[in-house]
Amino acid sequence: KSGFVSIIGRPNVGKSTLMNQVIGQKIAIMSDKPQTTRNKIHGVYTTDQSQIVFLDTPGIHRPNSKLGDYMMKVAHGTLSEVDAILFLVDVAEGIGGGDRYIIEQLKSIKTPVILILNKIDQVHPEQLLPIITTYKNLYDFAEIVPVSALLGNNVTTMLEQIVRYL
Ligand code: GDP
Ligand code: MG
Repeated sequence: KSGFVSIIGRPNVGKSTLMNQVIGQKIAIMSDKPQTTRNKIHGVYTTDQSQIVFLDTPGIHRPNSKLGDYMMKVAHGTLSEVDAILFLVDVAEGIGGGDRYIIEQLKSIKTPVILILNKIDQVHPEQLLPIITTYKNLYDFAEIVPVSALLGNNVTTMLEQIVRYL
């Protein structure tokens, strides 16, 4: 199985850290050069059975200019074409306006959205359930996967979940 996945989330939630953890030493392609005007490849995760191409999707933020509006349209196009969207949030920070804005944008897109609750090493395990409930009330996520991108906790499970949507 192979396919494309967009990684979205506000700054500092851990998108780059997660990519480093996933791709690690198994770098197949790693390029910061824009592939098109709208995507850049973060990395490609390859096993014998599967290949996941991770795309960085700029423009998922509150537009504050004409350029912002344009970027938003472009991002919307990308998100409609990929097999799954990985929406990263920071559980230590809590849900913010930036997260809510992204969730609003996702409501007009049919692509399955996998919610990644990152930085679980920063919260007590019993804090996780109320956080999950909060997000479940905001959007019908295809999957919800808690991880620590930094420590690598549950990242293998996350990859298994992604492959199901390719
Ligand atoms: P990005 O802007 O979404 O790409 O976020 P980065 O990957 O640059 O991460 C932002 C900060 O959060 C960095 O200082 C990371 O080390 C930290 N970080 C990322 N993931 C985790 C995590 O799982 N646990 C903890 N404790 N820190 C993390
Ligand atoms: Mg980054």
